[in-house]
Amino acid sequence: MSKILIIGAGGVGTVVAHKTAQNHGVFSDIMLASRTLSKCETLANAIGTKYGNKKIRTASVDADNVSELLDLFNNFKPELVINVALPYQDLSIMDACLEAGVNYLDTANYEPKEEAVFEYKWQWAYQDKFKKAGLMAILGCGFDPGVTSIFTAYAAKHYFSKMEYLDIVDCNAGDHGKAFATNFNPEINIREVTQKGKYWENGQWVITQPHEIHKPLNYPNIGPKESYVIYHEELESLVKNFPTLKRARFWMTFGQEYLTHLRVIQNIGMARIDPVMYKGMEIIPIQFLKAVLPDPGELGENYTGETSIGCRIKGLDKEGKELTYYIYNNCRHQDAYKETGAQGVSYTTGVPATIGALMFAQGVWRKPGVFNVEELDPDPFLEQLNKQGLPWHEKFNEDLEI
Ligand code: NDP
Repeated sequence: MSKILIIGAGGVGTVVAHKTAQNHGVFSDIMLASRTLSKCETLANAIGTKYGNKKIRTASVDADNVSELLDLFNNFKPELVINVALPYQDLSIMDACLEAGVNYLDTANYEPKEEAVFEYKWQWAYQDKFKKAGLMAILGCGFDPGVTSIFTAYAAKHYFSKMEYLDIVDCNAGDHGKAFATNFNPEINIREVTQKGKYWENGQWVITQPHEIHKPLNYPNIGPKESYVIYHEELESLVKNFPTLKRARFWMTFGQEYLTHLRVIQNIGMARIDPVMYKGMEIIPIQFLKAVLPDPGELGENYTGETSIGCRIKGLDKEGKELTYYIYNNCRHQDAYKETGAQGVSYTTGVPATIGALMFAQGVWRKPGVFNVEELDPDPFLEQLNKQGLPWHEKFNEDLEI
């Protein structure tokens, strides 16, 4: 029976709140805290009505502020914090965890606000501190990073003696009916997809222009979709933890309409993350843009279609013979909405975050230090993934198109 604190009440926080409430036998006491208290209260009331559990507690907190976090932690005394606020808050929450003796889990690596850099170095630097404090920090436990990293660990454990080529393929074949919207926080999403492409090959990073490498890939139950090589944070830890990889890339699908909007947004300066003066006041264009774009948490109602995310791996099997392997999940937006009121991208992030918390609460994943999820046992996690709404599938020795 575990006491957990969820920080962030957006699309992903909504799903985590639902899924932890569904697992009431494990999570006996749940608190949902975020910057805007009213969002937490609305969600907690809806969940209380839906599942008839003991009420989810709520609180308001500015997670950039360590002393506010400490007050909250010392009052509620959670065993684990599930951080589904923004990547900017990772370090302040980790600092507060260390001071209050609380374990930590997140779904996205730390990013400094003033620079769109995606690196684990800031969070990996907490390794000794967490170890010494006897606390655990689980990094990147969403879908990608998260399940994709665990899929890779599962492939290494059960099928490969040597993994040589890894392609993570992320397709959203959904339609939300809007001219332009992002599927998770617009500021974080636009920072991620407008950066230069980067992939690992023969022991070094290869940098490309944004969206320079692309081709159609076939996704199960969906068919061919134009897919683009972009940099994604799990590549950094995967090439470190699986050093036999000769090449590791991340592909994401984008529609032409989305890319056109993105190009315009960039060309007119609305993707800028540095402050500009407007009527005597400093504003950051991308933050203003977020305020006028659709809220990703509210896209669910009319969202049709599905996502398909997985890993395509080539290498040598346990007997030293050549093997190709594809492991993936497909998730229908409408099913996600029916269950939680959130669309598929929030769902595919919030379910793994909850399972990570479940692994911790049950003592299955529990050791002091800072871990990327591929360093932990994939089997019990993937068993739960099947049970908690994201069933996965495998294909052997098929054309991987790569
Ligand atoms: P949203 O923007 O919908 O929600 C973010 C929430 O965090 C909001 O409730 C917001 O509060 C709250 N918040 C922001 N700043 C603070 C702060 N300083 N203090 C307290 N609360 C704060 O984002 P999503 O739910 O779409 O995404 C959540 C996280 O999940 C992000 O870090 C994102 O990168 C990650 N993600 C990971 C994926 C994966 O597969 N690994 C995929 C998709 C997302 P308010 O309502 O007041 O603004």
